[in-house]
Order: sequence, then structure tokens, then C-alpha cells
Amino acid sequence: MKKIRVAQYSLTGCEGCAIAIINALARIPKLLDHLEITTSRIIGYVEPREADIAFVDGAVITQHDLETLKEIREKSKILVAMGSCASFGGIPAMRDDIGFNEAVRIVYGSMPNIPHTGKVEPLDYIVKVDYVLPGCPPPDWELEIFLRNMLLEKKFVLPDKPVCFECRSHGIPCLLDQGKVCLGPITTAGCEAICPLYNVPCYGCRGPIEELRLDKYLEALEEHNISSDKLLEELKIFMNKTKPRIILEEGGKK
Ligand code: SF4
Ligand code: SF4
Ligand code: SF4
Repeated sequence: MKKIRVAQYSLTGCEGCAIAIINALARIPKLLDHLEITTSRIIGYVEPREADIAFVDGAVITQHDLETLKEIREKSKILVAMGSCASFGGIPAMRDDIGFNEAVRIVYGSMPNIPHTGKVEPLDYIVKVDYVLPGCPPPDWELEIFLRNMLLEKKFVLPDKPVCFECRSHGIPCLLDQGKVCLGPITTAGCEAICPLYNVPCYGCRGPIEELRLDKYLEALEEHNISSDKLLEELKIFMNKTKPRIILEEGGKK
């Protein structure tokens, strides 16, 4: 079987997604027989190279991110937005709420000389993205399924159900009953409800489900006497640039 050339890139993020790729490959060494890793800081080669699949994590924040992403797109047959930052801004997108200068002041105290784009953008604001693997980071089993599908030349699709579906199927007690804001009902499944499993509410790191019913979710919060003001704060963590926050801020109940 022909080897697939895989490249891994990190724009601005924590690079946890890069580690997730290594973990996934370590878990399934047989897959490595069918892959050729062409680019990755982890193997010591960072410049964009021709590849069949490029996994790109991190959001676009600096001028260097912007230029690198465009070059990656030109050199990659399939471009995968890997993780929440790349898929929809994720944690870095929180910066836009306080502004660039204030964020720099808080983090560095003074201005570092890094040319930036002025706003935080997910990859698909700038280039065509072929697949999205959301999560912070995406679970390694999902990455494995993705790679297997690519080797078999099959399409990959994300689950079209919310985290609640997996939560309920594992018999986990619902955190809404404890008065906690849990974004499980509006978040894409695939993580096996790992946070509620450990009594931590879902923060929506896998992004909103396709068939979003924010009105139903708001009704459920109301039934549990949970304020939707709190909801807005939760959405700002991972879903800053996504539909639920935009709809909520516009006062809609779609
Ligand atoms: S999605 Fe999470 S793990 Fe991946 S780079 Fe962003 S912050 Fe790190
Ligand atoms: S704990 Fe969260 S994910 Fe689980 S059923 Fe309740 S709302 Fe859904
Ligand atoms: S439960 Fe929610 S926050 Fe936790 S991993 Fe799953 S999608 Fe992410």
C-alpha cells in the first residue's frame, strides 16, 4: 500500500494537539507503517512541505501564522483543522474580548515585537478546510478513525449528536440537576462525555452541534433555574466565535 505523506503544523496555541497526534500514533504503531511524516516541529522539520494530509493546530494570530497557513494550503492535498483553536478560535479567541493591547499587557507587561493580524481567526476564515477534528485536544481514538478512513480513501464525518447522548448512554448523572451550566446539549459528541464522567460540566471544547437547538437548551436551563447570563460566560471559553454565542448575544432563540 502506498504511504500517505502526513504533515503536522502548529500555529498559535498550546501545541497540545501536536502531542495528541504523537500519542495517537504511539497507540497504533501499525498505522505508522502506512504513513510518512514529512513535517513536524517534533521531528525537527517545520517548513511547509508537500503532503497528502496536513494537520494544523492553533489559531491565526500573527502575520507569520497567516503566511504559513497560506503556504500549507498550497502544499497540502487535504487540510485538517486540528483542535478547537484551529476549528473555531478556541481559547485564543478569548483575547478578542479584551483586545490585543490589554492581553499583551496582562501576559507580557510590555509589547513584544511580534507582527499580529489584529484579530484571532480560525483556519476556515482564511483558507479552505477539508476536515475539522474538534476538541482540546481531539481524542486520539477519533484521530485513529480519521487516519484509517483516509488510508481507505473514505470520507470522515463527525458524530451528528450532542455530548448528552454519550453521557446518557454511560449512565452519568446529569449536572444540570446540580444547577451547573453544562454545554453538553449543544456540543458535538465524540469525547465519550469525558468531563461529566468526572463530574465536570462540558465546556463545549468540541464546538456546537450542526442541528443547534439553542431554544430547547435555554428552556432546559430555565427548568433547572440556571441563569443564561452564566451561559454567555461559558460560551466565551471555547465557543467564542461560534453560532450559539452570536445568537445569544443577538437575543435570538434559534
Ligand atoms: S485545541 Fe487545545 S490542545 Fe489544541 S492547540 Fe488549542 S489549546 Fe492546545
Ligand atoms: S451532564 Fe451535561 S452532557 Fe451529561 S446529560 Fe447532563 S447536560 Fe448532557
Ligand atoms: S465533555 Fe465537553 S468539554 Fe469535555 S471533552 Fe467533551 S466536548 Fe470537550
